[in-house]
Amino acid sequence: MSTPYPHLLEPLDLGYTKLRNRSLMGSMHTGMEDRASDFPKLAAYFKERAEGGAGLIVTGGFAPSVEGWLSPFGSKLSMSWEVGRHHQVTHAVHQADGKICLQILHAGRYGYSPLCVSASALKSPISKFKPRALSTRGVYRTIEDYARSAKLAQRAGYDGVEIMGSEGYFINQFLVSRTNQRDDEWGGEFVNRMRLPVEIVKAVRQAVGEEFIIIFRLSMIDLVEEGSSWEEVVTLGKALEEAGTTLLNTGIGWHEARVPTIATSVPRAAFAWVTARMKQHVALPLVATNRINDPQVADDLIRSGDADMVSMARPFLADAEFINKAAAGHPEQINTCIACNQACLDHTFAMQRSTCLVNPRACYETELNFSAAESKKKIAVVGAGPAGLSAATVLAERGHDVDLYEKAGEIGGQFNIAKQIPGKEEFDETIRYFNNKIELTGVKLKLNHAVGAADLIAANYDEVILASGIRPRTLQIEGADHPMVLSYIDVVVDKKPVGEKVAIIGAGGIGFDVAEFLVHQGQSPSLDIDAFNKEWGVDSEYLTRGGYQRPQPHPPARQITMLQRKKSKLGKGLGKTTGWIHRAALAMKQVNMIGGVSYERIDDRGLHILVGGNSSQLIECDTIVVCAGQISRRDLLQELQTAEIPTHLIGGSKLAGELDAKRAIREGFEVAAAI
Ligand code: FAD
Ligand code: NAP
Ligand code: SF4
Repeated sequence: MSTPYPHLLEPLDLGYTKLRNRSLMGSMHTGMEDRASDFPKLAAYFKERAEGGAGLIVTGGFAPSVEGWLSPFGSKLSMSWEVGRHHQVTHAVHQADGKICLQILHAGRYGYSPLCVSASALKSPISKFKPRALSTRGVYRTIEDYARSAKLAQRAGYDGVEIMGSEGYFINQFLVSRTNQRDDEWGGEFVNRMRLPVEIVKAVRQAVGEEFIIIFRLSMIDLVEEGSSWEEVVTLGKALEEAGTTLLNTGIGWHEARVPTIATSVPRAAFAWVTARMKQHVALPLVATNRINDPQVADDLIRSGDADMVSMARPFLADAEFINKAAAGHPEQINTCIACNQACLDHTFAMQRSTCLVNPRACYETELNFSAAESKKKIAVVGAGPAGLSAATVLAERGHDVDLYEKAGEIGGQFNIAKQIPGKEEFDETIRYFNNKIELTGVKLKLNHAVGAADLIAANYDEVILASGIRPRTLQIEGADHPMVLSYIDVVVDKKPVGEKVAIIGAGGIGFDVAEFLVHQGQSPSLDIDAFNKEWGVDSEYLTRGGYQRPQPHPPARQITMLQRKKSKLGKGLGKTTGWIHRAALAMKQVNMIGGVSYERIDDRGLHILVGGNSSQLIECDTIVVCAGQISRRDLLQELQTAEIPTHLIGGSKLAGELDAKRAIREGFEVAAAI
């Protein structure tokens, strides 16, 4: 049998050291870096990824000084006494034959701290703190900070460092006139603006010697106005190579860019073309990045010569065993990152520990574990949505005898609806993963089986888990039974005809998704890199500074009005790091959004509403789609309780409010681990 993924799995010889394959686990701030007491957890987290085969791991960012903090008292490596805790991490990774680099991240004006500094005193749109402009001496001192931090990382046992030079952080802020208005030797002409990263690499190389990896994360496309030109990016890339960089990692877009770069609506490997372009100009190994979550995609990029390595960050959160499973020829067993950001980046921005929607054990390796069941029980799980799938597979893995009932003809529950939304195609991967897991763990799946309480009682189960989800809330106003009124299931699943003018009642996650479904004409820019680039203004010719130009969105398929009763901005409750994308995408399609309404009645003319309590308005439309939230479906509970069968509620059947798949999967795991 031929070796699977021969290009991804081929070692990379760096001369003094060899990487066992071409995968790089990209840097992610998990929150565990910020406190010394969390380092045992951090070590366990990295150890699993090293055991799972990651070729080279990069830690979350550590500031080289307090001025470079991401947030006050956050992760930093600038003092000798901070070294000790890191030994746990490096030792754990090396024991598993892995290699690990520490990322040095100076936040510059993105620092959420009153001490933040930058090239110039220009506030960023994403932090409330205005930075202080560094003095000329301050710049020299900062270069020394980088060198000292790298030296300390070497003492802590790291195999190298990654210098974060992208995403709009400190180094990026020196590179472009947008944020650098200095008139000393660090500002003005590009030759001055690019001096900082080059001097940093030189100083770091001098501090750590020749046999230590230096990765530089170079912003290859800024995706902001007045960003770097392609010629400047190439000039800098060559100078960094000269200065002693070992690997050049790709950075895509500043954090303040208005182009999605890692969300699920971004096509897979959408930005690999930028790395491929750079390949023609430098000889050192290049790392491609962003929305690479599949071993075949990774292998193809290396085979085609577009890159020498592939960075995957979130995919290693979703599955620590990603590489081992690929190497064993079992890609179908990989728990694929669906790029939702809900449990990783959204947590980071909310100052919570990261985890993963599809893998609740991520970052909880020392806490969320299960062992073989002490006594084997016969257990029924009702409902094969995310909650039931998670529960059933963990129960079976522990050795219980599990029957999983699903009334539909396929597993997945509401994920079967979600995956039909343009930009959410990845949700199908979770269904594929669980289909395999069911087979591997021996869960007995009973599809097309709407099980009743009497069946469960008659079958003598020791325990029952109710994961029967939700039912959509119906509208209780005059005319709610008008033929123009449809539910989101009628529209997305049953594909009932929808008119030219549509009103959507409810602007939660589902309301936004349904609007996205209806503004497209069956096409999904997430499956087509050219369409995505046009839609969001990515200049794939790279003729403009920052590689960013005016978006040219495809015209909307129909005219849509979204409504909610709350007065707040529509979409306020959507994900912290993805909500803006949904709002911007619909704004580009001229979706009209009205808050603070009350619904009066529906008739042949459309939807009659009151706005602001008194002004009456008619939303003329030919279709009204109700996305007004959900209520729990737990019809079987009472009978099961009366029959004294221990019954557990999880996911939507436990609580419909604030339900998402993150909670559903985690609850399934936790209940199953405890039985
Ligand atoms: P469900 O997924 O509803 O599954 C319940 C299952 O039980 C169903 O398959 C049902 O057929 C079955 N069932 C019910 N009664 C019986 C019975 N008596 N016998 C047998 N089977 C039965 N969440 C996110 O976190 N992120 C998103 O981006 C996201 N996008 C979404 C987009 C859309 C369009 C929709 C509709 C939902 C989205 N969700 C999203 C919500 C997410 O899918 C739900 O939170 C999640 O599916 C809830 O899981 P669950 O297992 O509790 O319930
Ligand atoms: P939701 O987010 O709770 O939104 C429900 C919407 O219905 C709100 O806009 C609400 O606004 C409105 N509403 C509630 N009761 C109503 C009533 N009686 N009459 C009219 N309108 C009413 O729920 P959802 O959109 O159904 O989504 C379900 C779950 O799936 C969510 O909890 C969400 O987390 C998850 N999901 C997540 C995503 C994502 O991208 N992360 C995407 C889709 C779904 P008013 O009360 O102001 O009118
Ligand atoms: Fe990927 Fe979502 Fe998990 Fe983050 S939470 S790692 S984006 S699947």
